[in-house]
Amino acid sequence: MPEPSDRDREVLTAYVRTLGDQLGLRDWDIWLGDWLPPADDKKAEYTPTPGDRHTYINFASDIREWSLEKLRSIVVHELVHLHLCDLGEIVRSDIHDAHLIRQQEYELIWAAFYRARELAVNGISRAIAGFFPLIEWERAPDALDCADPLLPGNAILSIEHPM
Ligand SMILES: [Zn+2]
Repeated sequence: MPEPSDRDREVLTAYVRTLGDQLGLRDWDIWLGDWLPPADDKKAEYTPTPGDRHTYINFASDIREWSLEKLRSIVVHELVHLHLCDLGEIVRSDIHDAHLIRQQEYELIWAAFYRARELAVNGISRAIAGFFPLIEWERAPDALDCADPLLPGNAILSIEHPM
């Protein structure tokens, strides 16, 4: 299976932007990163810039083989994560960089936080994913700018390709 096309990338970028806006993430710049190898267990990962409101999201390169519902739930999952970025920074930076605890204690706290955060993100994203639109891979290019006519000003913001 070849990697998704440039056109797929455009449609996916607009889709992520639309769902991001609907999820209250209008202040975030969200870029699509490189495709993850399909052999990788990960379907997607996000890489936020600490202390800033921008992130890359990388999706697995077999994304066109996923059902639309699966894609939606993974996009919603990654986007819900963004709301919790500052929380992660408390553990990763504030607690770690204060050097008040040993590395082993820090790793224990991070592992517990990571596990609890994943459960929370799963719970929230599973509950809400069905309220969001499915991607339309074949949508006409000029329709991408107004992906959701119910949301005024839903322009696609700063789409850049990081390569
Ligand atoms: Zn997650």
